[in-house]
Amino acid sequence: MKMMIMKKFFAFFSLILLFYTGFAFTVITTINPYGLIIKDIVGDKAKVNVLINPGVNPHTFSPKVSDIKALMSADLIVMNGLSLEEFLIEKLKSINLKNSVLYASDTIPREILKISNPDEEHVNPHVWLSIEFLIKYIIPGIVGRLSELDTKNAEYFKKNSIHLISELEKLKKKYEEIFKDYSGKTVLVYHPSFYYFFNELGIKIISVSHGHGDEPTLKELMEIIKRVKSGEIVAIFGEKQQNIEPVKIISSQTGIYFEVLDPLGYDSKNTVELFERNFETVLEGFEKYGEK
Ligand SMILES: [Zn+2]
Repeated sequence: MKMMIMKKFFAFFSLILLFYTGFAFTVITTINPYGLIIKDIVGDKAKVNVLINPGVNPHTFSPKVSDIKALMSADLIVMNGLSLEEFLIEKLKSINLKNSVLYASDTIPREILKISNPDEEHVNPHVWLSIEFLIKYIIPGIVGRLSELDTKNAEYFKKNSIHLISELEKLKKKYEEIFKDYSGKTVLVYHPSFYYFFNELGIKIISVSHGHGDEPTLKELMEIIKRVKSGEIVAIFGEKQQNIEPVKIISSQTGIYFEVLDPLGYDSKNTVELFERNFETVLEGFEKYGEK
């Protein structure tokens, strides 16, 4: 008899446990932009954690034991893919992750991804900075996976994603109009994160560094300065998560204004703000052309 009561008690207890833990659907993303996108979609229906602090360079991020634990306990892991999280993926090879993993770049047809520098072997991985990719592939892809895993909230996710997409479409239209006059211009960037972003505005980029935290040699720096002085470049852009010193040197040697972009949305509350801030920074860089 006592045993029966005990059994019933445990059954009830595990039901309570299931109620509290089973409903806290957890998503973990490697980089902040995907965290912002998912927060916009799930609202308060899921817990969203970001693994890589927005001040850290994701190309060189290596996880701590606590990071691995966080990854293992998530219901869904969202990564960028295309070797962006190279060091993380290397560490994860020895761990048998049983979670659902979504590579955001896998939602995009491979043939429309591009190589940003002719001497590079791989396509440019910074796909989240393309509004076009977000609207057409990445957001619908994320909503699809979330809805499979949490069917009861599928309608809610869909509704929020439609709102997010329409906000991004409005933003895209607004800034395409503003940047019309700058179409065909060339900018110098330290790192090619904003390749797709500039591409969509009809702006060409020349990149100082080509990938994974590499620094330019003095010879390369001198060549770039010569190129900037030839009048081809109208603005220079560094990035929050990259070394700013070479950009400062190029700017002071050439008199071309530089601004600092933020591909990871360090201070942004949501996806729209991440784009707004960067559009405004680029605009400022262009408007200050000629100013010393
Ligand atoms: Zn990068």
